[in-house]
Amino acid sequence: MTLPVPSNLERFPELHPAFDTQSALAEANRCLYCYDAPCSAACPTHIDVPRFIKKIASGNLHGSANTILDSNILGLSCSRVCPVDVLCEGACVMHRYNKQPIEIGRLQRYAMDRFYERGPRLTPHALPVATGKVACIGGGPASLSCAAELRRRGYHVTVFDNRPLPGGLNTYGIAEYKLRPSDSLREVGLVQSLGVEFRQQEIASTQSLDELEKEYDVIFLGIGLGAMEALGIPGEDRPEVIDALRFIAHYKTRDLEVGRVVVVIGGGNTAIDAANAARRLGADEVHVFYRRTEKEMPAFLYEYENSKLEGVQFHWLAQPVEILERAVRLVSTRLGAPDASGRRKAEPVPGTEFAFVCDMVIPAVGQSRFMKLLEGSRGIDLEHGCVAVDRPTGRTSNPKYYAGGDCVNGGREVVDAVADGKRAALAITRRLEAVRG
Ligand SMILES: Cc1cc2nc3c(=O)[nH]c(=O)nc-3n(C[C@H](O)[C@H](O)[C@H](O)COP(=O)(O)OP(=O)(O)OC[C@H]3O[C@@H](n4cnc5c(N)ncnc54)[C@H](O)[C@@H]3O)c2cc1C
Ligand code: SF4
Repeated sequence: MTLPVPSNLERFPELHPAFDTQSALAEANRCLYCYDAPCSAACPTHIDVPRFIKKIASGNLHGSANTILDSNILGLSCSRVCPVDVLCEGACVMHRYNKQPIEIGRLQRYAMDRFYERGPRLTPHALPVATGKVACIGGGPASLSCAAELRRRGYHVTVFDNRPLPGGLNTYGIAEYKLRPSDSLREVGLVQSLGVEFRQQEIASTQSLDELEKEYDVIFLGIGLGAMEALGIPGEDRPEVIDALRFIAHYKTRDLEVGRVVVVIGGGNTAIDAANAARRLGADEVHVFYRRTEKEMPAFLYEYENSKLEGVQFHWLAQPVEILERAVRLVSTRLGAPDASGRRKAEPVPGTEFAFVCDMVIPAVGQSRFMKLLEGSRGIDLEHGCVAVDRPTGRTSNPKYYAGGDCVNGGREVVDAVADGKRAALAITRRLEAVRG
């Protein structure tokens, strides 16, 4: 596997260009270095934003990167993928003065890029040796963060991931123009350099959990969500149908041919990512069909706006009923009364079926929450298909198990998974220290 896939370098140029040194310094000097900075409070991992920016302004780039990494070991990927408008930059005090917020994400990226270019070197913490072994199931952001934090406190940690490459959705799911798998793997390498052990192994049976329980004092679940939900309509198993997660993982790690006219079903960020990618991979036309309207679409507004610039066409109030050999049959919908969550239900309108000609269909209607591994075993409570935890500690109803990331929150952002992993690591440390007495 050659990563990044060479043709992707051209097809997926970066969405936001990196700062050059002069622009980074100018932007860093615009920061007011607020006391009790709202940007740090709005960051789920509470990076000391004014501090890392001040270090950029004074030319201490190594110190800046280490300030970021002290709070967030995935500072590189977060700098590229965080929805900063609704997080740190959204809270910037500059908004109060009707000025552009400080470009925190791009400054963070500037510091992190220099850190990795110069050969990643964490400021050495005297690594203590602590008694206690932790297994992290899943090798995505939640587990990587939990593992790094525990390792920094001297615990022995092993990460078990079922895929050929670790990194979870950072490696296989996030749009190529935001984060390349090779950058995700650089971060995995950093965690590895702390002494965390990685094994490619699926923990899929009661027996494998029994074995882990014998060998490890605590088990952290960072297993993310399941495969994409099925549409549940005839024709879904046709060869021209590929779900969005498989489609994205495929083009990020191998060459992939797309159809000339591609239909994407869904209205979330994953649908948008798949639609944009299909355009970049050469589809002449990409059509997104969503059963509600633009107003109800769950995708972030800026992702939607960007997708229109990519040439993706959006169609509202329609849902598929059957996939044929070279077409999708859809039915028009109308919005009914709101359901328990306040969302208006989309109801098919009888007699409005129509066919749309296409040669590839990408369903993107959400990831499943099927937790086969946990159902009915270990006394771990589930809630709406997610692992139920005590929020401040990540502890599950079985005190040997902690959990964080998408498998707990039902699918949010990378930075939320990192924050969960860190919080759980602190709670696990307290638990192991208490056991040791
Ligand atoms: C298409 C897409 C685009 C996204 N874009 C963004 C974005 O732009 N910005 C952003 O912040 N977030 C984005 N996200 C969300 C983000 O990727 C997730 O919130 C984050 O990756 C969650 O991390 P996690 O560690 O909980 O789970 P994951 O990243 O899903 O990692 C879980 C890992 O556990 C492995 N695993 C599961 N079960 C087992 C088992 N039994 N044994 C061993 N291994 C197992 C899985 O294979 C996987 O590698 C996106 C998500 C998707 C789907
Ligand atoms: S990790 Fe994300 S939310 Fe936090 S400061 Fe960095 S870019 Fe902002």
